[in-house]
Amino acid sequence: MNEKRIPQRILLGPGPSDCHPEVLKAMATPLVGHLDPVFLEQMNETMQRLRQVFQTRNPLTLAMSGTGSAGMETVFVNALEPGDRVVIGICGAFGERMVDVASRTGAEVIQVRAPWGKIVDPGQIQEALKSHPRVKAVAVVHAETSTGVLQPLEEIGRFAQNYGALFLVDAVTSLGGVPVPVEEAGIDACYSGTQKCLSAPPGLSPATFSPRFEEALERRKRKVQSWYLDLTMVRQYWGMERFYHHTAPITMMYALHEALGLLLEEGLDSVFRRHLVNGRALQAGLEAMGLKLYADERHRLPQLTSVWIPDGVEDTLVRNRLLNEYGIEIGGGLGEVKGRVWRIGLLGHSSRRRNVLLLLGALEQILRSVGYSVESGIGCQAAEGVYRDFLAKE
Ligand SMILES: *Cc1c(COP(=O)(O)O)cnc(C)c1O
Repeated sequence: MNEKRIPQRILLGPGPSDCHPEVLKAMATPLVGHLDPVFLEQMNETMQRLRQVFQTRNPLTLAMSGTGSAGMETVFVNALEPGDRVVIGICGAFGERMVDVASRTGAEVIQVRAPWGKIVDPGQIQEALKSHPRVKAVAVVHAETSTGVLQPLEEIGRFAQNYGALFLVDAVTSLGGVPVPVEEAGIDACYSGTQKCLSAPPGLSPATFSPRFEEALERRKRKVQSWYLDLTMVRQYWGMERFYHHTAPITMMYALHEALGLLLEEGLDSVFRRHLVNGRALQAGLEAMGLKLYADERHRLPQLTSVWIPDGVEDTLVRNRLLNEYGIEIGGGLGEVKGRVWRIGLLGHSSRRRNVLLLLGALEQILRSVGYSVESGIGCQAAEGVYRDFLAKE
């Protein structure tokens, strides 16, 4: 036997992130049927945990089968019918994906664009609502993983409400990393993914829908375009009826249940603080090494850092060496900054001090060996300074 085994990596890219070991253990639990009373009870608990993490009381809070993109598609196919109008804010690759997904529903898509690396200006969303009658929904990405920007939500939520539009939010990279206050921000539909800040493998898309969204669903003239993602049917499996629709991915449901349990046990505030301190430490370390961060300073995500690749340094060479010599994965750029930025994720279980220092040390070694001049140890020193400051404030 000469089987090639999968090596153990440290996942510091834009997802998937490192799975929590307790989540992997939960996935070794023997299967039960998807209508087994024990399993249904665990689903109820998962829904309850999801409501806590999404900070909402929405009855319709569940996990769609599929990755984050399935959540995106669920939201748009259920919200929109041919002829409807939707305003989408775009400042990166996932905003672009929203446009693609939404336009396939036959709805008219009104695009509000911002330069990559910046946020979408809420005032421009308001302008779009003013100048187009009968907008059914407004959609934005909360944490734009392609640039590392955190989009403020409250103002856009108010504008959407004022104009009678549903507010749809992508929280794939934000949920479990920064607060996603669904009710407070007036969000009507919000979806995430298990493999970013929830420390589980890819495969489920947690999502929540407001009563207002459910009312809009009742008023549809046509059936939802997708059978698999039709909430009018999927909610009958998650709700009181427990009707079979499609077989739940049992093992992934074990994983999500465990991952949410771990998150709530640590406490939402502690989880957000952990992401914040590690993110700021990494960012301080990179800047101390003379690197320039890409995302607008006022709106930088702690859990996803994008950094310009210095002149004369080759993107793939550095990433390959990080992977092969140190077992560390980071991400490359997407779209217009492909080959020009690196994206470093400190998502979920990957968000740890040891990973920050390991990456800064490894990156320093590699950069020096390709002729980029950096003072020895300066990145780690700056990161440690941030940890000290945070500790002092506690
Ligand atoms: C990762 C990501 C998605 C897509 O999720 P998949 O799990 O890859 O389908 C959507 N939106 C954002 C903001 C993401 O970061």
